[in-house]
Amino acid sequence: MITATKKLSTRYNVAKFMAKGLLSTRHPLLAHIVPMRRCNLACTYCNEFDDVSKPVPIEEMLARIDRLAYFGTSIVTISGGEPLMHPELDAIIARIRHHGMISGLISNGYLMSPARIKKLNEAGLQYLQISIDNVVPDEVSKKSLKVLDKKLRHLRDNADFNININSVIGGGIKNPEDAIVIAKRAVELGFTSSMGIIHDGTGTLQALSEREMAVFNEHKKLGKRGYTRVNHFQENLANGKPNNWKCRAGGRYIYVCEDGLVHYCSQQRGYPAIPIAEYTLEDIRREYFTKKSCAPLCTIACVQQVAVFDFWRDEQTLEGIGHPPRPLGEENEDVIDGVTEMP
Ligand code: SF4
Ligand code: SF4
Repeated sequence: MITATKKLSTRYNVAKFMAKGLLSTRHPLLAHIVPMRRCNLACTYCNEFDDVSKPVPIEEMLARIDRLAYFGTSIVTISGGEPLMHPELDAIIARIRHHGMISGLISNGYLMSPARIKKLNEAGLQYLQISIDNVVPDEVSKKSLKVLDKKLRHLRDNADFNININSVIGGGIKNPEDAIVIAKRAVELGFTSSMGIIHDGTGTLQALSEREMAVFNEHKKLGKRGYTRVNHFQENLANGKPNNWKCRAGGRYIYVCEDGLVHYCSQQRGYPAIPIAEYTLEDIRREYFTKKSCAPLCTIACVQQVAVFDFWRDEQTLEGIGHPPRPLGEENEDVIDGVTEMP
């Protein structure tokens, strides 16, 4: 259970992050970094894992964290693949904290044990997000409440960091009502809960069915402990409406893949694909001002949350690259964003 001291210190860090984010537009607010692409699961919708790759060498990872610190990055969240499979994950977290950046982790939770959780406490982890897709495992996903409930209890009893459980609706998830069961259990255990809309392989929207819409609305009413993290972006998308916003990916948000390349986000890998060692403050500035054509139907909540800081300022005057938005309802490979919420 998170201690009062840890809660206070995390709140102080978040307040600092908010103030710095509002005062300056020249640094990344959030970076996602991948220490290994390999995963111990194989969710059929996922385009963010393999079953063969090796962990990125620790020296390389630490150099990438140092570079993020040089940019003035506020929050660094480690994602994957499954980051808990990296043998030196704790050293990566410790390096993030050494630089005074806020540390986050996205995991499928399978490898959480009391001993592993205590090591994450010692390393200085501040935020963990686990995505749970269904109540009972099926052929699409084994990220299931039934399998993970024991791990969640270990986290409740041992974790000295904040925990958010993300459930999803849309795309190929069979029982949308599972999302409500998962959210209720998260709150019961003392965690926060969020809900994400599944996007397709270009990071854009799959329209919600009537049944999914009912779940989406029910989740909004359960307003407890950050329960209604569904923001106005998702409200529009659920209703099939595009969002008018400025995606600051590549500038205020950056995604660093296992090869050390900076991309806009997990769903726009390939742009701009510059090695982080060569990525500069000028690149960050350029991307801040660059329009992203995929923005209107994008469902990537963490990048949208980052964009809120700069919503009213600085028009984007540079034309971007990237996939054009896909029309609603068009068939595509379903992909759930593994990085739906800040941090
Ligand atoms: S969604 Fe997460 S747990 Fe599932 S295969 Fe992808 S990386 Fe692994
Ligand atoms: S709008 Fe931004 S976050 Fe969304 S898919 Fe495009 S580049 Fe990624």
